[in-house]
Amino acid sequence: MSEPAKKKLRVATTSLAGCFGCHMSFLDIDEHLFELVELVEFDRSPLTDIKEVGECDLGIIEGGLCNAENVQVLREFRARCRKLVAIGACAVNGGLPAQRNHLKLAEILEEVYHTSPGIAQGMIPNDPELPLPLNKVHPLHEVVKIDWFLPGCPPSGEAIWKALTDIVAGRDPQLGFGLLHYD
Ligand code: SF4
Repeated sequence: MSEPAKKKLRVATTSLAGCFGCHMSFLDIDEHLFELVELVEFDRSPLTDIKEVGECDLGIIEGGLCNAENVQVLREFRARCRKLVAIGACAVNGGLPAQRNHLKLAEILEEVYHTSPGIAQGMIPNDPELPLPLNKVHPLHEVVKIDWFLPGCPPSGEAIWKALTDIVAGRDPQLGFGLLHYD
């Protein structure tokens, strides 16, 4: 008798204050992509263009929190995903966007829109549809519980694949020395 098909892990991904580099690295798992589609099915993700996150086994989040919409999306992921992974330096510790944290937000907006060359003398955007910027950029774990952290900028495709296969097998992801580096 043939074995019943294994239930696929339902996975959602999103990019908050990030550059999509971690998603690009996800695609760098190359030939494992064929195995991936046997193991997981994607819910909300830039890979599917589904806009609302549904009930998922795993949420993978790139980028930290720089505005109110980021916080809202993160809370939705926390409410609907059994486990959350913070992927990449921006999600883990704020990364590059957090370099603005030593400056006051008002001063940054003033510099960008009024003082520096380029769009100097422009208006600071204030359309009510725009998400409100936060005073500081925050890593994900400062707002919700994060189950696993995958460091790197970006983590390599190999590291992402190892973490995913560990999770699919019901283990905590263990990257080990060879997959953890920051160059
Ligand atoms: Fe981009 Fe690096 Fe941040 Fe990933 S960790 S979103 S690659 S800047």
